[in-house]
Parts: sequence; C-alpha cells; structure tokens
Amino acid sequence: ELALQFKNVSFHYENEPGKMPILQNLHLSIKEGEFVSIIGPSGSGKSTLFKLITGLEQPTQGDIFLQNKLAFNRLGEVGYMPQQDLLLPWRTIAENAGLPLEIKGMKKREAHRKVLELLEEFGLKGVEDKFPNELSGGMRQRVSFLRTILSGSRVLLLDEPFSALDAITRLTLQEWLLAQWEKRKETILFITHDVNEALFLSDRIFILTETPTCKLEEVSVPLERP
Ligand code: ADP
Ligand code: ADP
Repeated sequence: ELALQFKNVSFHYENEPGKMPILQNLHLSIKEGEFVSIIGPSGSGKSTLFKLITGLEQPTQGDIFLQNKLAFNRLGEVGYMPQQDLLLPWRTIAENAGLPLEIKGMKKREAHRKVLELLEEFGLKGVEDKFPNELSGGMRQRVSFLRTILSGSRVLLLDEPFSALDAITRLTLQEWLLAQWEKRKETILFITHDVNEALFLSDRIFILTETPTCKLEEVSVPLERP
C-alpha cells in the first residue's frame, strides 16, 4: 500500500513566475511504514516539498497522492513539524503540546498526564506551566516534536526536527523516534542536513538536487544501521 506518491510534480512560487521552477518533474513513491530521509543542499526545495505534501502549496504541475487519494488540503491527515515552530505564545507548554489531544476530545486529565509523561521522556520535566518565550530553541523544538507525535498521524513530516538539540539530547530523541516507529510503523519523511542522522534512522535516503538538474535521487543505504 502506498502512503505517498508524486507523479511528475513541478512547482514554482507564484511571486516569482519568471524564475526556474524550484521542483521539476519529480516522481516519488513511498510505501506505508517506510522511514525516508531527504537530504540536499540548502535552498534545494526540501521544505517546499513538505508544503506541497500538506497542501499549504499546490503543485504547478503534476499530482500528489496521499494514501492513494488526491486532495487539495492534507494538513489534517499528516503530522507536520515545520522548521519554524508554531507554538502558540499565549498557551502554556502543556497546553501547546496537548493541543492535538484536546482536538481529539481526550479528557483533560488524561491528556495532561500523557503530556507530562512525554515531557519527562524528552528531558523537559518541570516546564509544563511555562510559556514558549521562556524556553530555549532546543526546548521549543522538543515541545513542537512532542505535539507532532501526539497528533497520532500515520504520516509524519519532520523538517529538521532535531537541528537545535545538543548531541546527547539529539541521540535520545533519535532513539525514541526509532523505537516509536518500530512500534507504530508510521510512514515518516525526515528532512535533515546530517547524513549520519539519515543513515542511523532511515530505510531509504533521497537526495534532492537544485534546479536546473532538480532530481530526487535515491541513494542506497547499507542494510545494517550503523
Ligand atoms: P530547503 O528546505 O531545501 O532549504 P526551501 O524549500 O526552503 O529549501 O526553499 C527552496 C527555494 O525556494 C529557495 O530558493 C527559497 O528561497 C525559495 N522559497 C522558499 N519559500 C518561498 C516563498 N514563500 N516564496 C518565494 N520563494 C520561496
Ligand atoms: P491509546 O491507547 O489510544 O494509544 P494513549 O493515552 O496512549 O491511548 O494515547 C492517546 C492518543 O495520543 C493516541 O491515540 C495517539 O494518537 C496519541 N499518542 C499518545 N502517545 C503517543 C505516542 N507515544 N506516539 C504517538 N501517538 C501517541
């Protein structure tokens, strides 16, 4: 069963019509349960690729299928963690992190317990009543990751989710994510600058090259994780 498919997708931002498309004639097929990393130079269009998958931007040409469906808006069906966190400044950390559970109608107490449990696992014990502007970048990144996980989505789009973490915290979160994925087998698309991180985490790695070449090229990954 395919989780995601790109058929001949091209895209350019509307405010730059004369410029080269950022993404050109891309094809991609991802099966359910695959853990895929996307690497590539800055500005090659990795984040744009995610915006197309969510429907925040629409392809100029070609089609994108999520779980074999063609749709205009897919934000509700994916767990999207953009690079710039979207924490609401007027809500506490616990309220921010628990938002997906609140939306799903989970009981307040139960949602709060779940949030506290994960905050602790992510090394964020004691920050639940603080506000986002009281946290460091790395802490906010973990809260944002937590919230994405709590969406319970079967497809996760993680845009450099661990870039602001120190090496040890990053390793903890990488291992947490792998364990989580082995248990739940979500489909994960993971953008990173760190080739070692891609090798450690994923089944498949794609390199996105810049236009004019613009290719989404799969590289072979050693079968054993390092
Ligand atoms: P990456 O994630 O690989 O660093 P991006 O997808 O963020 O790349 O950006 C790809 C290209 O699109 C860059 O040249 C960037 O300047 C341009 N770009 C990104 N967002 C916009 C936008 N909203 N409007 C116009 N150009 C944009
Ligand atoms: P359930 O028995 O439904 O998994 P939980 O209290 O464990 O109950 O979680 C409730 C919801 O919160 C889940 O349906 C899921 O969407 C989300 N959730 C909780 N923990 C996790 C987790 N570790 N990973 C992903 N989603 C989670």
